[in-house]
This record gives sequence, structure tokens and C-alpha cells, in this order.
Amino acid sequence: MSVKCSFCSNKAITKLRYAKLSLCSKHFVEYVEKRFSKIISKNKLFKNMDKVVVAVSGGKDSVTLLHLLHKVSKEFNFEIIGLTIDLGIRKYSVESVEKALKNYEMLNIKYKVIELKNKYGFSIDDIAKYRRKAGIKKPICSICGTIKRYIMNKYALEIGANAIATGHNLDDMVYYIFSSLYSGRVDNLAKISIYSPSEFKFVAKVKPLAYISEKETLLYAMLRKLPFNYNVCPYARLRTFHEYIRKTSNVLEENVPGLKITFARMFLEKINPILYSHYLSEKKFKECKICGMPTTGKICSFCKIKSAMEKVLKK
Ligand code: SF4
Ligand code: ZN
Ligand code: ZN
Repeated sequence: MSVKCSFCSNKAITKLRYAKLSLCSKHFVEYVEKRFSKIISKNKLFKNMDKVVVAVSGGKDSVTLLHLLHKVSKEFNFEIIGLTIDLGIRKYSVESVEKALKNYEMLNIKYKVIELKNKYGFSIDDIAKYRRKAGIKKPICSICGTIKRYIMNKYALEIGANAIATGHNLDDMVYYIFSSLYSGRVDNLAKISIYSPSEFKFVAKVKPLAYISEKETLLYAMLRKLPFNYNVCPYARLRTFHEYIRKTSNVLEENVPGLKITFARMFLEKINPILYSHYLSEKKFKECKICGMPTTGKICSFCKIKSAMEKVLKK
């Protein structure tokens, strides 16, 4: 016998065990939208903000974030500017950018596309091919993360935005917490937050999907028929540890419904503020000698990557 929705007589299409609810498609969409709005109010994510840059890669999480933020932007009184970075990853980037633009147009949202290769002279595909030659030791995803954070921050600063919203979901948060604990990176743990205030030349960062799981963002995007790139980045397959943590945390969640939310909430609300005050609040930033963006050394990580790639690509 099919299970009925907890709120109406329709057939349930999903069961949210952590909330003890079975929901039909209409009530699932409503449930996610209400929870999203509650997360924003409870954490005061957009207090006193009037311009927010939303980073849209074209994947399910960022597309869901864009639509959810568009729904609440009037209530919380801020303007949305979309930002899409064309990373230059073969066909994957072409499709991702195309999907991001479709969503901006659907919602009539102002946006900016920054093409990595055009603007800075190298792509993520170039990084994958030449990074060893360029003497860059970090893995591709770590470099890609540095590049994305740099471009987002620079753009948000240039247009005078109050915050950058990104589509990191609950599963991403669980992974970041776990992997930083595992590697003993206390400074990384101190940075994991649902809201990071602005400081020096860093624009505030907001993660409104921090308590919404990957399964929920995917289902929301599918039920609302939002255009998004279903394909996975070709470099994501290199992240085996990431995949292992994802699978293991899902097994734990199966046995203890709500474990992921509680784990993330306890960390974000109780542990992170202590770590932040010990490890980050005293951190001193200066301007990078090349680009003027914030760094703790003389030259920022982005400029180091850029100059290493320039040398290799010129040859
Ligand atoms: Fe960048 Fe890695 Fe994500 Fe691909 S999987 S977009 S390389 S961070
Ligand atoms: Zn229903
Ligand atoms: Zn720099």
C-alpha cells in the first residue's frame, strides 16, 4: 500500500525520517521553502543587507539556492546579483554556464559571467594538464576552490555587495567538518560557518543551504523542473575520500535519522564560535603586493597560481 502525505491525502513521494514526515511533491516543495526561510531568520543571515551575490555554478545546489533566495528576497529585502564563473572544464563548463543563464533569465535576475581563461589566461583544464610542470603541488579541486573564492570575493567587493551566498549543502558541511577534523586543520575548522562576517577586504559569506541535504536540493530542483547540469565535473571522480565520507555519513543517517543535521548544528552553533575566537579573530591580513586582495603573506594564493601558470603557458 502506498504511503500517504502527512499533510494531505496524496501519495507521498519521499519520506524525511529526521522530521518524521512523508510528503507529496507539493508539500515537499513547501516544506523545503519554509525550512529555508526559517534557517535565514534564525541565523539572521541577511540582516542589514541590500545586495547579495549568489554564486551559481549551474549544478543542482546553486540553482536550488538561487530559486529559494529569489522567493525570500522581498521578505528579507535584498537584491540578488548572480555570478557564474566559467572554469573552462571541457563540455562540463559549457553546459553548466548555459544552465546557470537559463535560471537567471527565468527569474529575470541580473548576472555576471566571468570566464577564467579570458580574464586570467588559464582554465581549470590547463591547471589539470600543467600544474605539475608549474610546480603546483595541491590537488585540482583545492586550486579550483581557491580560484573560485578569489573571483567571487573580488567581484562582490567591486560591486559593493554585502555578502556572497553559496550553495554548500548539509552533506558538504558534514564533509568539511569531518575532513578538517581528520587532518587536524584547526584553522580550517574555524572557517566552517553558516555565516562568516566581512573583514578587511573579505565580503561576508553566507551558506543558507547548510542544513538542507543534497538529496533534498536534488529533489527540490527536480520537482520544480529547474534546469541544471546533471553531469558531474570530470575532476570530481578524483575525490575518493570525499565520496567515502559521503557514503558513510549516509549509512549513519539511515541508522540514526537526523544525525547529519545534529552533527552540523552542534559544530556550527557550539564548537565553531570557540574555534573562531581562538584562531581567526586575531588573524592579520594585508593587501597582496600584486593584486591588492587580502592575504596573510606578501602575495596571495591566486596570484601565485596565476604567475606559475603564466610561466608554463608562455613556453
Ligand atoms: Fe572544481 Fe573540483 Fe568542483 Fe570540478 S569537482 S568544479 S575541479 S572543485
Ligand atoms: Zn501533501
Ligand atoms: Zn594577489
